[in-house]
Amino acid sequence: MVFTMHLLAGFSKRDITPSLDRKVYLAGFGRNRVAEGIHDRLWVRCMALSDGRSTLVLAVLDLIGLFYEPYTVELRKMFKNMHLVVASTHNHNGPDTLGLWGPNVFTSGVDSKYMDFLIRQIASCISEALEHLKPVHLRVAADDRDELAEMQGDGRPPLVKDPTLNVVQALEDSGRPVFTLIQWSNHPETLGGSNTLITADFPGVVCDRVEKETGGGALYVNGAIGGLLSPLSMEKPLTDPDTGKPVEHKSFREMEILGLKIAEIALNAVEEGETVEEADVKVRFKQVFIPLRNRVFRALAGLGVLKRPLYTCGRLDQRTGRINIPGFGEVEAALGEDVLSEVGVLDIGPVQAVLIPGEIYPELVNGGLARLPGADYPDAPFEPVIRSHMTGRYKLVIGLADDEIGYIIPMCEWDDEPPWLNNSEEPTYGEINSLGYDTASVICESLKELLEKPSQ
Ligand SMILES: [Zn+2]
Repeated sequence: MVFTMHLLAGFSKRDITPSLDRKVYLAGFGRNRVAEGIHDRLWVRCMALSDGRSTLVLAVLDLIGLFYEPYTVELRKMFKNMHLVVASTHNHNGPDTLGLWGPNVFTSGVDSKYMDFLIRQIASCISEALEHLKPVHLRVAADDRDELAEMQGDGRPPLVKDPTLNVVQALEDSGRPVFTLIQWSNHPETLGGSNTLITADFPGVVCDRVEKETGGGALYVNGAIGGLLSPLSMEKPLTDPDTGKPVEHKSFREMEILGLKIAEIALNAVEEGETVEEADVKVRFKQVFIPLRNRVFRALAGLGVLKRPLYTCGRLDQRTGRINIPGFGEVEAALGEDVLSEVGVLDIGPVQAVLIPGEIYPELVNGGLARLPGADYPDAPFEPVIRSHMTGRYKLVIGLADDEIGYIIPMCEWDDEPPWLNNSEEPTYGEINSLGYDTASVICESLKELLEKPSQ
């Protein structure tokens, strides 16, 4: 006989701020942005949720992203009897953990000593979250007020956003929150590319405030932030509640107000949330091979700047060879065809979350795929729209989950060559940070398949 079980939950956090005794290259924006100080700390925060048989651990990092191989795979080897998800907020004010932002194009910005420290901190955070499992019930809510969309600037046509904010809170029967998980979608790059202080950006403000207000832990995860949802192109300036005046753009005050607003909306929403007393915790993953078509990434892999294995026909392929790459000339490049990554689905009572290994364009999640003039493949078939295959009453999108493969762009909107999208004078931004024009099809088809498979 199968019983639906009472839920158990735990939370823990660990400091993952790098030491400035060593040079720290900040991730995001241009290369060679060296950290000059610390504005606020970076954390890994872990929530554990168990139905007594199946246990989910979600670790969230205040970082730009972390590769599936070796890191997620390595961490899972340490924690075998559970389902582990390692997501990043996509913070643009933390250390380079991918390799793309070193002193020059030929040199990785990753400090392997920091990576060892990071993995140790994540592992100890996971262990502690699992040590303190307590009986809980959940409170779940979603909010999609206009204000949420206004704070997401959309930097690339078509104008499709993902404004919905979702909250999942686990409370002890006494009413004391163990953790509050908040999911929204926006690039943590409020300060822009000239900032040189380490900070967790607005997600850090959200978590701090929610932890202070509730006395429990808080986690922030980012959803569909591709295409390009960013506070840098916010529709109208935020008002400073202290002065009643518009706040300075790209300032720490703006970052703070944005974070406090999101925290307030989340806390108000969950106050009115739906109570879930019992639920099963169901987790499904599917590994995917994604063709690596980006020739610059291929060169960087050959140079050892991007460190992740490549595969051909499902087998590890470590071959390198000289190929001609625009911007690099004749270089030793990695020749394997595919990157190994993963998608996933979580089902917890009325809550369903999809796990996306990068920055997905909102139109692939919500619909609104567009055939725009200038696109390189104007007749490309539309990928399956993810939300239309989701069944939960609360539909969460957790991006940068278990991997960071970069932008996931609809093929019909792919634009690597002039003429540019919508007859723009400027080249389209996004493709240089994507594996290729068919990444979206692999991700969306695989998720559709997972979502349609009956859960165990
Ligand atoms: Zn990004």
